[in-house]
Amino acid sequence: MKTSDWLLIGIIAFVLIDFAAGRVINFLNENSKNQPLGPEAADIYSEAEYQKSMAYGTANYKLESFASVISTSVILVAIILGFFAKLDSFIRERIGSDLLVTVLFIGILIILSSLGSLPASIYSTFVIETKYEFNKTTPKLFIADQVKNLLLSLGIGLPLLYAIAWIYQELQSVFWLVAWLLVASFTLFMFVFGTRIFLPLFNKLKPLPEGELRDAIEIYCKSQGFPLSKLYEMDASKRSTKLNAFFSGMGKVKIIGLYDTLIEKLNTEEIVAVLAHEVGHYKRKHTLTMFLFSNVQTLILFSLMGWLLSNPNLSAALGSDVPSFQLSMLAFFLLFAPVSTVLGLINNSFSRYNEYQADQYSIETYPGAVEYMYSALKKLSVNSLSNLNPHPIYVAVHYSHPPILKRLAKLK
Ligand SMILES: [Zn+2]
Repeated sequence: MKTSDWLLIGIIAFVLIDFAAGRVINFLNENSKNQPLGPEAADIYSEAEYQKSMAYGTANYKLESFASVISTSVILVAIILGFFAKLDSFIRERIGSDLLVTVLFIGILIILSSLGSLPASIYSTFVIETKYEFNKTTPKLFIADQVKNLLLSLGIGLPLLYAIAWIYQELQSVFWLVAWLLVASFTLFMFVFGTRIFLPLFNKLKPLPEGELRDAIEIYCKSQGFPLSKLYEMDASKRSTKLNAFFSGMGKVKIIGLYDTLIEKLNTEEIVAVLAHEVGHYKRKHTLTMFLFSNVQTLILFSLMGWLLSNPNLSAALGSDVPSFQLSMLAFFLLFAPVSTVLGLINNSFSRYNEYQADQYSIETYPGAVEYMYSALKKLSVNSLSNLNPHPIYVAVHYSHPPILKRLAKLK
């Protein structure tokens, strides 16, 4: 058998393993969730709320299972029937420039995958989230969000891809290093300015209005040397009733955002405790460490690419006689799946560790924060119908925040 056939078998095997592992992990999580209301859980939920949280989890579990069966089938059929090679040669016959072929090919895949994920997204927003009284998104806002997201991925992704393909064409041997430097610079830009630039396309950010809350926050921010001018209230309530807060940016370009839903449902002390947690992310330099770690990941990615991408067997595995940058890249990413799973595990465990640190910072710097944080987290989980008993493997793979009961236990 030819090397390209072995690669094709490898690709199909990885897609199947990824699918099977995903299904098993979700199944374990679904079973782990459905437990009788224990004493710890009774501290958070009433029996009725607890039943509702389990039903909400099950609804999402069913949607995800169904969507993954469909998407995996579509990908497998496309690989086996040689759809990607056919699309590649279809564009190639009509366009002279290799770089434009690459951009068009990936652009079409981005559009197809956005369209493909649309039904699940509509069902999630307008059926599940509506049934559990979270959804506030109007169809008009939903369409606007989808269009903006698609235009952003095309508008940012394709020029970046064009540059990477150009570097590959011109600088074969040092491609991996130069492309990595380009992506690292772009990542730096996004870490610093991303939220600042792109969030206002989706949400309105306004300074906190005068009043008791602003006064309390001002006192805390002064004590920590965090400028109040970097603090915003965000109109999250136009999409969902769920509560949240976030920290973003580095150095002088930093912002903390509080959802208006959080301000509405938490009392002043609880909000300051949550804010102190976000300041903790800033003070403990979590954005910087995440940025550095993300660059280590892309370095691994690009060095493997530099080593493998010029191998014509990658394009051949997807059914093309002509070596093609975009087909090789697609085959590479399909084969890269196990590495990216491992990187995802490290990423999430790192992020969960940071959450504990930020909670710790809140406790250390805001008197009484243990109690306030405790009650804030309880309100947050009731308000989002959190799963109190997630399976540890599911947590390792999917959770960027610690499970709520663990977080509460750590606070005490
Ligand atoms: Zn956090």
